[in-house]
Amino acid sequence: MDLNYSAEDEQFRLRVRQWIAEHPPGPLGTLAQKKAWQRTLYDAGYVGMGWPKEFGGQDARPMEQAIVAEEMARGDVPGAVNSLALGLIGPTLIVHGTDEQKRRYVQRMLTADDIWCQLYSEPDSGSDLASIKTRAVLEAFEDGNRWVINGQKVWTSLGPIADYGVLLARTDPSVPKHQGISYFILDMHQPGVEVRPLKQITGSSEFAEVFFNNAVVPPENIIGREGQGWELAQTTLGFERGGSLLARVTRHQASMRRLVEVAQAMSRDGESVLEDPVMRQKLGRMVVEVEVLRYAGFRILSKLEQGKRPGAESSIDKLYYSEMDKRHQEFIQDLLGPYGQLERGLPDELSLNSSTLRGDDATWAYNFLWARAGTIYAGSSEIQKNIIGERVLRLPREPRADRAAAGSREG
Ligand SMILES: Cc1cc2nc3c(=O)[nH]c(=O)nc-3n(C[C@H](O)[C@H](O)[C@H](O)COP(=O)(O)OP(=O)(O)OC[C@H]3O[C@@H](n4cnc5c(N)ncnc54)[C@H](O)[C@@H]3O)c2cc1C
Repeated sequence: MDLNYSAEDEQFRLRVRQWIAEHPPGPLGTLAQKKAWQRTLYDAGYVGMGWPKEFGGQDARPMEQAIVAEEMARGDVPGAVNSLALGLIGPTLIVHGTDEQKRRYVQRMLTADDIWCQLYSEPDSGSDLASIKTRAVLEAFEDGNRWVINGQKVWTSLGPIADYGVLLARTDPSVPKHQGISYFILDMHQPGVEVRPLKQITGSSEFAEVFFNNAVVPPENIIGREGQGWELAQTTLGFERGGSLLARVTRHQASMRRLVEVAQAMSRDGESVLEDPVMRQKLGRMVVEVEVLRYAGFRILSKLEQGKRPGAESSIDKLYYSEMDKRHQEFIQDLLGPYGQLERGLPDELSLNSSTLRGDDATWAYNFLWARAGTIYAGSSEIQKNIIGERVLRLPREPRADRAAAGSREG
């Protein structure tokens, strides 16, 4: 495999880099500002790049998408606010939606006119997603039938700002649990939908709990067939893993470069922390681990370029990068000592990125706390290990009726 970029790719990279340099995002404190930034990215052709042209995308090659993601990471440019719509929900609608659903919803995801959330997890159903209890019952109204929704969801990312959600609800409790689930488009701005933001340990509230009390969904808002929800959820989840590893690598590299500068500026026992042999060894290990991730990124990219889709082995990458991030953030805390815990007031020479501070997420403390999330969302580390054991290594399965990975969430 040739790991060099072609001359054409290098030219494309330079164009993207120049565009990023000429279009600083400005403040992104409000939802309107975040939507406007996504619109700017979209107008430049950098949102939904891999989507078909007929739905507002660019039909771009995986390599071009990877280059844009890398350059955005290099420039420390924030991504599009409608992340779930772009990563998972739009692709699912494009594959499984009716023509009317695609016409009505897809382009508005790209322009950030509608923000979407994913209503899957419930208080007692996370890894074992097929056990969801939220009910959808088809009832007759004066002007026709509608699905009536009752129940509760939790950990709904973007819930506090979402206009629509994709909802998994049980439509038939009498059949085996995977077969009785359907997949709906739900209008979040209707009576009977209550969104309660959840404050996280990081201080921000990207999550919400969502309660349904006789909320309604018109029959044309089912995606796929009644009872096909589990199958469609697997497709959705399939888009979630292994997407932009190379952009992650670029972010880690930038953070490591900064860490070396910080270690140089800090002194302990009268010596620069960078001279401490134990710290040097750990920094070296970090560099090697990120390099491993870079090659994993190339492996996925070359598969995508050949028109293949990464399979169950992308669980290895998800497990690796999320656990690696947790390890690295813990080491960074060791290196910084008490400074690592400061959310405000950190001296400039020790801060994560003094030139492009954007808010909460620009502190070491925030990154440390947030690293925990990576080993939980999109399928926890234990679930990834189950998948690797059963589907990649083909280890013998446990002879239990309701076995782990067969019924559990992959995303
Ligand atoms: C940052 C973040 C964003 C999220 N966004 C969304 C969202 O937008 N929409 C949404 O629907 N959900 C979202 N989630 C929820 C997420 O999908 C669940 O938290 C996840 O699936 C785990 O489920 P749980 O929290 O119920 O934990 P549980 O499933 O109760 O797991 C608890 C512990 O048991 C372990 N465990 C469970 N089953 C097994 C098994 N079979 N074998 C071995 N170990 C097992 C788990 O690994 C974990 O350590 C988000 C979560 C996070 C952290």
